[in-house]
Amino acid sequence: MKLLEDRILKDGNVLGENILKVDSFLTHQVDYELMQEIGKVFAEAYKNAGITKVVTIEASGIAPAIYVAQALDVPMIFAKKHKNITMTEGILTAEVYSFTKQVTSTVSIASKFLSENDTVLVVDDFLANGQAAKGLLEIISQAGAKVAGIGIVIEKSFQNGRKLLEDAGVAVTSLARIKAFEEGKVKFMEADA
Ligand code: 5GP
Repeated sequence: MKLLEDRILKDGNVLGENILKVDSFLTHQVDYELMQEIGKVFAEAYKNAGITKVVTIEASGIAPAIYVAQALDVPMIFAKKHKNITMTEGILTAEVYSFTKQVTSTVSIASKFLSENDTVLVVDDFLANGQAAKGLLEIISQAGAKVAGIGIVIEKSFQNGRKLLEDAGVAVTSLARIKAFEEGKVKFMEADA
């Protein structure tokens, strides 16, 4: 997605070996117009897949996911990272190791929001080693729902998340694929959409 790649080149900052900071438009301050365009591109890619729910993980997946849900006209569910006393009914959970925070946390979705009648599109902001997406796949499979694919805004293709997910038999659609950081500069490979 050229609009996204151009924005990454303009406003993204490479931190250390393998982190891209995009807090001015995606992970902290959010550019809703860009998110809306991202939503349309994912919706176009999955328009014939019979998607009934979009699933993401808090916090930074929520912004793109809500616009994907709008474009597909289905609900968006975000997995919660902290147990909450209002989550009194059945909950589906998975353990997720966070690449950026370097801690393992239990993520959960109330079972009433997913069933075997659902076909899910998973959406997340970044794909690094695939742990966040893998946790979401576990939760979705506990619900007996189907997964049509995983939509990623920014994939770091030099890490092994894509392989992990494709080996699990799930299609990955990434709007920007970073093949390397070279001297602090982002180098792209061809994206999926
Ligand atoms: P994974 O679970 O695929 O290893 O990592 C994906 C999660 O880690 C994403 O949900 C995202 O929040 C975070 N993440 C991974 N790499 C980056 C990065 O380079 N920059 C930012 N801002 N977040 C990242």
